[in-house]
Amino acid sequence: MTQNVVLTLQGVTKRFGGLVAVNAMDFSVQEGQVLGLIGPNGSGKSTTLNLISGALPATSGSIALRGTDITTMPARDITRRGISRTFQLVRLLPSMDVLENVMAGAVFGHRRRWGTDARSYAMGLIDRVGLGGKAHARISQLTYIDTKRVELARVLASDPKLLLLDEWLAGLNPTELEIGIDLIKSLRDDGRTIILVEHVMDAIRSLCDTCVVMSSGTKIAEGPPSSVLTDPEVVRAYLGDDDA
Ligand code: ADP
Ligand code: MG
Repeated sequence: MTQNVVLTLQGVTKRFGGLVAVNAMDFSVQEGQVLGLIGPNGSGKSTTLNLISGALPATSGSIALRGTDITTMPARDITRRGISRTFQLVRLLPSMDVLENVMAGAVFGHRRRWGTDARSYAMGLIDRVGLGGKAHARISQLTYIDTKRVELARVLASDPKLLLLDEWLAGLNPTELEIGIDLIKSLRDDGRTIILVEHVMDAIRSLCDTCVVMSSGTKIAEGPPSSVLTDPEVVRAYLGDDDA
């Protein structure tokens, strides 16, 4: 299968004072692929997403979106070019309803919508993530998985070409986890390109085409889940990590 490269990181490094949080990262994401970015806590996964989304400037190295250098591009321009992310902790507007939260996402992305167009588009996404009938529920009234669904709909509202999910499945109970995995699967089946930061091994195995494993900011392994998850160096990196 011939594929197009959506995103390329070359020698991407991020220092926080004396700490090298991300160290000379190199990887590419192919169109339609789910790439799992995995590794113990503190290994630099969220920081890598922050560098890709433009939330943080890289110290060195380069990031390209379909061949366009986005390394120093402001975050809002990167969103407009089609990269959107969820956060490790849900960030919704609790006093607003589901529809308002999803519409807030529709105003940003690379295909901006306004007025009734934004509204009907948002309603479609609310159905898409399994929240049909709850468009007017306030966020504070929702169950945990439903807040996750809203977060996903809000990110989809910008119609991202590349979706960055930062531990989106974290905190779900086993029943919810199955629902969550199926939902991400359905996005993959829609042809979305996804970078998935994840600790849940079942999710990594069933969702990821390829994995990049980080440890202390450095890539220590790369390849399909079946091979990287049994790699002795990867197993060693995870030993002693409570979330593994
Ligand atoms: P992960 O998502 O893999 O758990 P992070 O990317 O959040 O790891 O963090 C990697 C390292 O960078 C950690 O040591 C963390 O404390 C540090 N770090 C992350 N963000 C900042 C920041 N804004 N300022 C200083 N240090 C940070
Ligand atoms: Mg993180």
